[in-house]
Amino acid sequence: MYTFSTKINQEFRNVDINLRHETQILTEEFGINVLYVRNNKFVKCKCFDDLNKTGDSKCPYCHGSGYFNSIQMIPAIESSNSPYSSTNSIQKLKIGVTDQKNEVYYIQQQYNPKERDFILKVTWDKDKNPVDVVKVLELINIWDTRGDNGRTELFACLTNNRTDLMNSFNNTVKSLPKIAINELLKGGKYIWPANIQTDSHK
Ligand SMILES: [Zn+2]
Repeated sequence: MYTFSTKINQEFRNVDINLRHETQILTEEFGINVLYVRNNKFVKCKCFDDLNKTGDSKCPYCHGSGYFNSIQMIPAIESSNSPYSSTNSIQKLKIGVTDQKNEVYYIQQQYNPKERDFILKVTWDKDKNPVDVVKVLELINIWDTRGDNGRTELFACLTNNRTDLMNSFNNTVKSLPKIAINELLKGGKYIWPANIQTDSHK
């Protein structure tokens, strides 16, 4: 009996010639749909403080990042066990940065996850609309997994459980307009807040 994570671990230790194909199959088999929140560093929020180069930590629009976010529905594989827990990358983490569980999400290469982005684990209704945010997970460390040809095939993302941002993100998800939901379900991206137009919204 092995868990998903050990299976995945074995898959990637014995790197196959067509890892990208394997990754696709694994994601279809074990993946869940999450909302991926990308920190957009091109469009500043109205709360952005040019002097301190930060946003207002209480800002309901950008959650204190100082920038607008894009949101996208993507498949990810969740795992509570990190196969990388003995690597140097983990040891470089500052004490207190991560919680005890070291929850890891595996994301396919085309989504290009970055540190400080967020994964929202949400519940979905029968019409595939997001209902409630169950977890807010900040990406704090990312490893790429490469195939034999050196091509990046999959990212393992170590996350930090940000319970302090639950309400804020819950409000955001619940206030997403229908046009945003439709865009997400089509695999597209949506930039919020919805009432502010940006050139990058396309
Ligand atoms: Zn803001």
